[in-house]
Amino acid sequence: MTAPARPTMSGKAITQSQFDRAADLINLESYMRRILTSPFREVQVEVPVRLDDGRIEVFTGYRIQHNGARGPCKGGIRFHPSADHDEILGLATIMTWKTALMDIPFGGAKGGVTVDPKRLSRLELERLTRRFTQRIAIVLGPYRDIPAPDVNTNAQVMAWILDEYSSRQGYTPAVVTGKPVSLGGSLGREEATGRGIMYVMAEFARDFGVPLKGGRVVIQGFGNVGSHLARLLDAEAGAKVIAVSDVQGGILNDKGLNLPGLLAHVADNKPVSAWKGGKAITNDELWAVPCDWLVPAALGSVITKEANARTIDCKVLVEGANAPTTPTADLILEERGIPVLPDFLANAGGVTVSYYEWAQNLQQYRWTHEQVNRELQATITKAYVAVRDLAKQKAVTLRTAAYAIALQRVAEAERLRGN
Ligand code: GLU
Repeated sequence: MTAPARPTMSGKAITQSQFDRAADLINLESYMRRILTSPFREVQVEVPVRLDDGRIEVFTGYRIQHNGARGPCKGGIRFHPSADHDEILGLATIMTWKTALMDIPFGGAKGGVTVDPKRLSRLELERLTRRFTQRIAIVLGPYRDIPAPDVNTNAQVMAWILDEYSSRQGYTPAVVTGKPVSLGGSLGREEATGRGIMYVMAEFARDFGVPLKGGRVVIQGFGNVGSHLARLLDAEAGAKVIAVSDVQGGILNDKGLNLPGLLAHVADNKPVSAWKGGKAITNDELWAVPCDWLVPAALGSVITKEANARTIDCKVLVEGANAPTTPTADLILEERGIPVLPDFLANAGGVTVSYYEWAQNLQQYRWTHEQVNRELQATITKAYVAVRDLAKQKAVTLRTAAYAIALQRVAEAERLRGN
């Protein structure tokens, strides 16, 4: 039932083969498999943007709504050269399982524009965001589809989406999450994905005896997810973050990186490898660093049969990114006895706090940071415990158990609605 091995497998293929294992486990009917693997609605748009030099460049954008049986579609928007139809569809599908596993009242969606935002000025980025929002606005709405940040998008981009949408529909903060706090964003949203990963690691550590306090952690990627995770693991969990990387390279310090120093360094827009508090390493070398916890926290398909699945040297793989492990690599890790905390469990803290942000916007009532963190911990821990228990009971991987729980919930909602 697994898809054929390919070195760079698309997001869609990744979810398909992993879906099949879980669907078999819960004996899912074939028509329901069809509903749960195909998107509810796909929108592809042309995004013409006037550049600073006066020329117009035309980009392609997508908003794909995979499933909305359990609530409004929900998921981020990414700006990346590799963001194409297949990738966005795979990521939208993962969002359906993520919201179902967390048991928050949303479905799954994802959006993206095929663009390298590093080539754009700030004004060009704003024009791109506004034009893209205009073109997909017809399928958005607080009870329809709610975007959020993802790769290369942030609170400022969400503010532009809010402004563009509200300028036509009237003030609608609940149409987008991950906004700046001063525009109705939630306290704790920016760090939420990293914080959720830390909570899941802490639970796993307790259950399976892998040290977190003093444990050696390697993080690939130092964007929103990787940098907050590193900071929190260092400051709150007492873990030893020994290596991190960004697109340009990595930095290693066997004694543990000084996180406040490294964060101050990258705040100046400098690459991590240029920091003096460790030894510069290449991105390939990073995968070979022996550690307790290895956390890919950047793009998809980075753990592959060809590159590193047989050689990574960790006790646990924690999927901070979406779809970082190809199915073939996943099977190799299973053979090697390396447990994987799957993406839609481990990195679900972001969308979970997005739910709190949406709820606060609809309630017009603000929660404290402590309340956000407390509820996040309770929600993600409950999901983790359900996954752990089912994995044990059925003797399957954590990923298959997580899929089985999510699929069951979405299928139930579909049946209750008459499908
Ligand atoms: N982009 C994040 C994810 O992949 C957050 C999505 C959201 O908050 O809607 O989970």
